[in-house]
Amino acid sequence: MSEQQKSKETLIMEEDGNYIAPIYSRYPLVLEKGKGVTVWDAEGRSYLDFTSGIGVNCLGFCDEAWGEAVFQQLKTLQHCSNLYYTKPAIQLAKLLTQRTGMRKVFFCNSGAEANECAIKIARKHGNAKGKGADIITLWDSFHGRTMATITATGQEHYHHHFHPFVPGFHYVTPRLEEVKDKLDQGACGILLEIIQGEGGVRVLAPEFLKGAADLCRKRGALFMVDEVQTGTGRTGALFAYQKLGLKPDLVTFAKGMGGGLPMGGVLMNRVTENVLVPGDHGTTFGANPAICAGALEVLNRLTPEFLEEVNGKGEYLRDGLLSIPGVEDVEGMGLMWGFRVRGKAVKEVVAAALPLGLLLLTAQDKIRLLPPLIISVEELEKGLKILQKAIGGKTELVV
Ligand SMILES: *Cc1c(COP(=O)(O)O)cnc(C)c1O
Repeated sequence: MSEQQKSKETLIMEEDGNYIAPIYSRYPLVLEKGKGVTVWDAEGRSYLDFTSGIGVNCLGFCDEAWGEAVFQQLKTLQHCSNLYYTKPAIQLAKLLTQRTGMRKVFFCNSGAEANECAIKIARKHGNAKGKGADIITLWDSFHGRTMATITATGQEHYHHHFHPFVPGFHYVTPRLEEVKDKLDQGACGILLEIIQGEGGVRVLAPEFLKGAADLCRKRGALFMVDEVQTGTGRTGALFAYQKLGLKPDLVTFAKGMGGGLPMGGVLMNRVTENVLVPGDHGTTFGANPAICAGALEVLNRLTPEFLEEVNGKGEYLRDGLLSIPGVEDVEGMGLMWGFRVRGKAVKEVVAAALPLGLLLLTAQDKIRLLPPLIISVEELEKGLKILQKAIGGKTELVV
């Protein structure tokens, strides 16, 4: 093909291959601009977004008030490091503690970093109490890509090639006997997701979660929840643990909190707030004032009424999924759902939905839906119709 005949998109994709390290397998789509739940590609085609950039854009694309908050702060003071005090971080931390009942916050830049911090707190706490430094995590979990967090991740296919791993991680299936055994052998804490996201949208049983929290409390081990994906309103509560009435010692968050900019963090309670002291931990970029100003807008928008709507829209989405022939094993909460399609590989469904104008995610052998929390019922309905078409195998374009 001559250069003239190639589409603008093909040329961009070739450039990517020439210069970007081949670490991702991408869909053949160059995204150019977005507004709300709609995103446009370089050829001007529009797509309904049921991914939120993997659970990140909770207010959708380019929310006006969020953008304005970030922009104002960018023009005022964009960064100064953690050597000095800044107001946006303090305001955000205050609001987060008020709305969670936790006591202190550490801000960083990603989910993996948030979990690294939680792991360090658990180990320092465990070592000081003579409990050792071993940490329990679950099979099918996902906690990040750094050395400690891929070790914590209980999925063997992430564990090839990167030996030696960080010692002291033990995997269990979600059964209390297994947790008890491992705690008896001397673990300093357990780290788990309330709903396993990358692992296939698996909702853990509330009895298991409550039981595990109780076992930890009785043995002086830390109960740590990774809310990187389930947090920031995703499940219809600010954090999923709040829905279940759990009392974690540490809560990690990231994805949705920055509304599209890199932000992660750890919430600490009375037991954990003073474990790390100056010199133990830190980050150059963490608590960036502009990102904190945007996160403050995110948090202010996630009112109890807004979260109620997330629950209502979630029920609508679940009912819609259940009504599509071929959709099976629908599981989730709020606006986080996973399901299988009878007789179809997930990749086929995602590929069929793409030209019909719908962006979907996968998680293991399931389709995963993480639409922006601001999505309307009409947009959900439109997405469900496209999904049904994609599953039914029809390929005509929906406008
Ligand atoms: C995405 C994710 C992470 C990793 O977050 P990064 O920002 O990619 O480092 C950790 N835990 C869970 C539950 C996640 O979904």
